[in-house]
Amino acid sequence: MKTQSKSTQAIHAGFLRDQYGSVTAPIYRASTFEVESIDDLTKRAEKIMSGMSGSGDGYFLYTRLGNPTNSTLENRIASLESATDYVVTASGLGAISTAMWTFLKAGDHLLADTALYGDTHGLMLDILTKFGVTVDFIDFNNFDLLRNSLKPNTAMVYFESPCNPTLKITNIAHKHNPEIKVVVDNTFATPYLQNPLKLGANIVVHSLTKYIGGHSDALGGAICTADKKDAIKIRLEGIEKCTGAVMSPDNAFLFLRGITTLPVRMMAHCANAAKIAEYLSTSKYVKVVHYPGLKSHPGYEIAKKQMSLFGGMISFELNFNFEETKKFVNSLKLIKLAVSLGGVESLLEHPASMTHAHFTPEELKAADITPSQVRISVGIEDVNDIIADLEQAFSSTSNK
Ligand SMILES: *Cc1c(COP(=O)(O)O)cnc(C)c1O
Repeated sequence: MKTQSKSTQAIHAGFLRDQYGSVTAPIYRASTFEVESIDDLTKRAEKIMSGMSGSGDGYFLYTRLGNPTNSTLENRIASLESATDYVVTASGLGAISTAMWTFLKAGDHLLADTALYGDTHGLMLDILTKFGVTVDFIDFNNFDLLRNSLKPNTAMVYFESPCNPTLKITNIAHKHNPEIKVVVDNTFATPYLQNPLKLGANIVVHSLTKYIGGHSDALGGAICTADKKDAIKIRLEGIEKCTGAVMSPDNAFLFLRGITTLPVRMMAHCANAAKIAEYLSTSKYVKVVHYPGLKSHPGYEIAKKQMSLFGGMISFELNFNFEETKKFVNSLKLIKLAVSLGGVESLLEHPASMTHAHFTPEELKAADITPSQVRISVGIEDVNDIIADLEQAFSSTSNK
């Protein structure tokens, strides 16, 4: 059969009919699974070690090693992301830290982009370095620098595209040394808009908390791999022995519900964001708009190649000083002031004092984060209502 489209996969992939014909996946709220005999346990353990857990083959022993509800979600995401295998985790940071603990060791070098999710940056800089990993942050759009920064002990290259919070685009498809794991955080684009594994990345991490959940009601993460061996290592070393960052089956159910509408939600987020980016770029209160769908964005051409639409995240710099910027964000009524993103509701945040408050002035500068910059996660409300809210906040800020 021809490969189904993503809209169909989002609803059906990985689903297994149960004995009652339930049309949704049951929640298996079990920590452990009864075996028939010691031989049965040994057989199941061997199957799990060969990767037959979380892949619909039905070998379960203990939920830290796999659970049928989680497994349905893993198969659905793997299908959307064109991955060989996938492991879901308790949160996005649980996915990222698990990937790091699985593939890095003392003496290794990690090369990462300057602009990253705040706590990913913190994990690399404050935690991994305590365990003998060296880390360099460089601008991944500077190819000469990128090439010259790779060392004989570089074990991992890590970036986001579009990146948080500045929406910088990195070309995912550059050639790399097969010894080095290329890890891409695909949270902003989602598997509906972009598939980094098809472009040569080895590992993709996600915060399911954002668009895949889509309703701001659960934390979750996922790690997907091009090579099945990597997923086995993640499950049996990273999760089982290291982070234990296991997703609860209740949350897996919420993500299975959320993911069914990912395609329609993403189309609505992208359409609203494109209109808002246009509106902002003509506003006298806005200095610059960072949205990969604008022709003025330096990453526009690459984004057009590697993404099917340009996403629902925008950051923009105001023609206001910091005090006025604070007044602007406090004047919003419909758009909520909050960290996080990807839900149906519009959220706005101020990176320099919120998600990236722990960056030093030098790190903020290297990441292109300025004091007058805000980031909006464009929701799927009526776009005219979102624009009206921005408009009233602009005028109430400039009038006082
Ligand atoms: C939110 C986020 C994370 C962390 O995910 P949690 O689910 O909050 O742990 C990682 N990367 C990006 C790009 C994010 O937006």
